[in-house]
Amino acid sequence: MSSPNSPLDLTLDGGTLTARLVDFPSVSGEETALADAVEAALRAHPHLTVDRFGNNVVARTHFGLPERVVLAGHLDTVPIADNVPSHVEGDLLYGCGTSDMKSGVAVQLRLAATVVEPNHDITYVFYDCEEVEADRNGLGHLFATHPDWLAGDFAVLMEPSGAVVEGGCQGSLRADITLTGVRAHAARSWLGDNAIHKAAEVLRRLAEYEPRRVVIDGLEYREGLNATRIDGGVAGNVIPDECRIHVAFRFAPDRSLEQAEAHLREVFDGYQLDVVDASPAALPGLSQPAAQAFLAAVGGEPRAKFGWTDVARFSAHGVPAVNYGPGDPNLAHKREEHCSLSAIAEVEERLRNWLTK
Ligand SMILES: [Zn+2]
Repeated sequence: MSSPNSPLDLTLDGGTLTARLVDFPSVSGEETALADAVEAALRAHPHLTVDRFGNNVVARTHFGLPERVVLAGHLDTVPIADNVPSHVEGDLLYGCGTSDMKSGVAVQLRLAATVVEPNHDITYVFYDCEEVEADRNGLGHLFATHPDWLAGDFAVLMEPSGAVVEGGCQGSLRADITLTGVRAHAARSWLGDNAIHKAAEVLRRLAEYEPRRVVIDGLEYREGLNATRIDGGVAGNVIPDECRIHVAFRFAPDRSLEQAEAHLREVFDGYQLDVVDASPAALPGLSQPAAQAFLAAVGGEPRAKFGWTDVARFSAHGVPAVNYGPGDPNLAHKREEHCSLSAIAEVEERLRNWLTK
């Protein structure tokens, strides 16, 4: 058996290569050895130029083809949960990162090494620190420092999607609504003004709110506006002078962040509303020619992505992006994380068809 940090052999089949990547621990912040191995393996291929920034590696073809597509994946995993080294049971490969997302990275590496006559120019992006705070995200650092390395007409993020195309992603806006009153002794409540009672009207608006369902590029997005937390009260014998309701708005990608905020302010007109966190949505972009060719080649019915992923970073830079990877999103970050070996082979095959025919 090879030692964990021996060179990566890109002639291994996708499942075996995934196992090798899983046995190469790379918890967020500790990706250097894996990034070194990825860089070295890619540099062996003369049809690729390879650039490195920190623990981010970008390999590109330069055939002068009219369109460029980007395949991106993160090298890091969440902390290991006694589930490394990997092991195989039947068609399943078990271990930390099998689904999220070393199976996707293995497919990227296999394609990078073997697709030597592509029909689009291809950019392969391997980045660090996706599983931690957004300001450490390697893809974010690349967009800030070397946006030209990430330029393209369409991007595929190889996050676990169960081998189904997931388009775009919803945006997220979180805000506090603050209600104020006058504090008083509960025995003389007429001297006060109860801030908690004022929550009733805000909660009524939330309960009666009818979230939209929006179809964009054939995908249905379901919005949601919900109170996720409520704080208020001073003591059992005090009329409270403040109550705060935390609301979460998940919105479809036909709204910009500004429009989403304006909508919230309209719903809660007359109330003090402070935005505490905001992430833009990403349009699926499935009507773009490059995306159409992709969908035709990989087949299946695309579905909307409801969570927030790095596709939004591509979208924010004008590159339509989808999630498509062999891993199972429901197994990500779990102790029993695993990935189907046949799904790894299938995704590689479909992407190879897209990139070569
Ligand atoms: Zn991931």
